[in-house]
Amino acid sequence: MLLIGNGRLITRDNDAPFFENGAVVCDGKLIVETGELTAMREKYPDADFLDAHGGLIMPGLINAHNHIYSAMSRGISINGYNPKGFLDILDGMWWTLDRHLDLEATRYSAAATYIDCIKNGCTTVFDHHASFGEIPGSLFAISEESVKYGIRSCLCYETSDRDGEEKCVQAIRENVDFIDHCRKLRSEAGQNPADSKEAAQADLLAGMFGMHAQFTLSDKTLEKCMSEAPENCGFHIHVAEGIEDLHDSLLKHHKRIVDRLHDFGITGPHTILGHCIYINEHEMDLIRDTDTMVVHNPESNMGNAVGCPPTLRIMSKGILTGLGTDGYTNDMFESMKVANVLHKHNLCDPTVAWGEVPQMLFENNALMGARFFETPIGKLKAGYSADVITLDYAPLTPMDASNVNGHILFGISGRYVTSTVCAGRILMKDRNIPGLDEEAFYAHCREVSRRVWDSVNGR
Ligand SMILES: [Zn+2]
Repeated sequence: MLLIGNGRLITRDNDAPFFENGAVVCDGKLIVETGELTAMREKYPDADFLDAHGGLIMPGLINAHNHIYSAMSRGISINGYNPKGFLDILDGMWWTLDRHLDLEATRYSAAATYIDCIKNGCTTVFDHHASFGEIPGSLFAISEESVKYGIRSCLCYETSDRDGEEKCVQAIRENVDFIDHCRKLRSEAGQNPADSKEAAQADLLAGMFGMHAQFTLSDKTLEKCMSEAPENCGFHIHVAEGIEDLHDSLLKHHKRIVDRLHDFGITGPHTILGHCIYINEHEMDLIRDTDTMVVHNPESNMGNAVGCPPTLRIMSKGILTGLGTDGYTNDMFESMKVANVLHKHNLCDPTVAWGEVPQMLFENNALMGARFFETPIGKLKAGYSADVITLDYAPLTPMDASNVNGHILFGISGRYVTSTVCAGRILMKDRNIPGLDEEAFYAHCREVSRRVWDSVNGR
């Protein structure tokens, strides 16, 4: 057993939301109890102790939309890249990069991302992958790194017509194979002990069917996707990230984007629509009526200058809306800060978004997780997955259950995370990742990145 304690405990459980000096008790991959530190130590005297050193203890964070493939873009320079708008950014930067990712580069992008997730306290990632340089096996390579580093992942490959039919067929196959693999893991896990390797993998991995965006998917391709997609797998797709996507749908298909996706059967309770900047009331109603999910990526939208989505309106409709980073960062606190100021700035109203932004990150992302993973996540509560982080934070003003989100918003960033536990496994202890030679890892990662950059620039 593992007892994580000696800090202010934020549980996200409404029945007992805050302990001034609390502890979480974990048995295997599950939380068995939370409470005051003294009481928990008396009750579980033999449990191993992970010390929060008087800081904060809270549930591991969840990123609802990420792009592992973007990891090696940091500091890149691409010859001739001079974007005039969103489509130029996609084609000139992201599609150019992913065309040069082979399996080794994908694997290192995944490992680097997961290490960064651990350091920022993010224990669950929904990823939307592209590596048109080498598609077959890419989701499997990522999933191996996910299991190796102990992070929970829901993976998919972004199917697109943008690199021709052969690559599109490979992308569809990769989605189907990986979804089947995850389902097989689940069924096998049921026949193995709860602490077996199979059960651990099944608990950490899920798959869904990825699609890039409607403007790079013909009717023929969407028909093929729908005919091959396993039942109830759910789809993960960018929607109306730029106005160009809406114009394309109207011009080519004479309907709005969500209508087009809905007509193909893509909407539904397991489907995630990223961005949704240019959707109207009718499309929001369709999303709500089909119980489809939306993910907001504030930093990415601002960085690409594509506009601000009507996130607060979307949430007021009752649509399950999560918070992601779109590859910009693995620090969910950063995404939370940017979402907070974006909507105030956009609506010229400093009173908005106080409730919605923490709701997205701390409640809705967990509800999204519950649609893909069997063990519930996002709360420090008996029966939930033992996903726990500790942070080095001493409040300079009074702190209690009523104002934890204010402290988090203004007082914390990912770098404050000291220890990270996912499914009961200690992934980082006092900023040290056991078994990882960081210096050697990053040195090799830089070599792989250099090779990718050289390839991108034709060297
Ligand atoms: Zn994205």
